[in-house]
Amino acid sequence: MQEGLFIDGDRMKADFDALSRIGSTGDGGVHRPTFSDAHLQARRWFLEVAAQSGFETRVDPAGNHSAVLTMPAATRTLLIGSHLDSVPKGGRFDGALGVVAALEVLRSVQDAQLELPVSLEAIDLTDEEGTLVGRLGSAALAGTLRPQDLENPRCGRENLKTALQRAGLSEAGLLSARRDPAQLAGYLEMHIEQGPRLARNGKDIGIVTGIVGIASYQVMFHGEANHAGTTPMQARCDAGLGASSFVVAAHQLVRNRYPDSVVNFGRAEFDSGAYNIIPAHALLHFQFRSPDESNFVRLDAELRAEAEKAARQFGLRVELHPGPKWNPVKMTPEVQAAFEQAADSLDLSHERMHSGGGHDADKLVRVTRAGMIFIPSPNSVSHDPREYSEWKDCENGANVLLRAAVEVANSSH
Ligand SMILES: [Zn+2]
Repeated sequence: MQEGLFIDGDRMKADFDALSRIGSTGDGGVHRPTFSDAHLQARRWFLEVAAQSGFETRVDPAGNHSAVLTMPAATRTLLIGSHLDSVPKGGRFDGALGVVAALEVLRSVQDAQLELPVSLEAIDLTDEEGTLVGRLGSAALAGTLRPQDLENPRCGRENLKTALQRAGLSEAGLLSARRDPAQLAGYLEMHIEQGPRLARNGKDIGIVTGIVGIASYQVMFHGEANHAGTTPMQARCDAGLGASSFVVAAHQLVRNRYPDSVVNFGRAEFDSGAYNIIPAHALLHFQFRSPDESNFVRLDAELRAEAEKAARQFGLRVELHPGPKWNPVKMTPEVQAAFEQAADSLDLSHERMHSGGGHDADKLVRVTRAGMIFIPSPNSVSHDPREYSEWKDCENGANVLLRAAVEVANSSH
């Protein structure tokens, strides 16, 4: 481990503050949805600062923005990055902190005149938050983006076309933005935790072991409409009752048997929706997340079985329509180890944890060595202007990122 190697915290803070002003909401947050004026401005800012620092700058056909510190003997590149887009009216740390930290890593390596066997590339990945598609730049770079992802985007087809035009990008470009994995030496990211665990446990750094799998369903219970006043309670086929019973059963199942996992019902609709009619149909939208592959598969089957059980119990019929599904992924063990050694070399406490939110690393780990660290989010609020981390923790994270990057670069052969 490189003793005596540190980032310049004041320089990184100046960058972070400059970036926080672009798209500022005035209450500590930023509003930088993908390809909004503020987002495009933030990306221009990144390239300008990179160029002023003496780095080569690049924009690929997926719109990913890069600053490159080229090493003379290198044939491969270690990516270090995050994202400059935000959710609507989001916080100023999510994504932006990882990008300024990546840039600071490059400058620190440059200042120390280190010679590494691979080049270093600070990268701002396109549309991580999913204004358009979600983790669009990383999927394109990894080569896992499919034409159907663009045919049926989260934002709607027309919005996608307009947005790409604004940014001067094309669908053909997105689908051709794959980088040859043989030229990649890995991907590292520093991010805020967005949860309570590190602060609660008094730890400095979270070493991410993996990223949860996420599956979504629409489920429809079918019963029979009837008069709400004259139909005896025991003679009803109440779709709303089946749906409600399923919501409670699903929560109990996850809390009792899958402590690492979560389930959320984000939408419920009863049809016909009148006070005096027994609901004939009840629609639920739910999502569950699990960090472990075998639990993910088992929980999926058990939730479906619970829906069917609720339907049987109340004399209903049930239909389940699966939505998007992403399997859990594990981060690369040697990258986790490099982060741990880096934290140890700085006398920072750390613990291993999975990520309950999606990140670009889950696309990139499919093609190259990848890993992430988290820093504490003391108020546990994210995707909101109240999102906050102590600056000391931001500096700690960037120092861990720097030393781990040098370690991963030196172990690339
Ligand atoms: Zn993020």
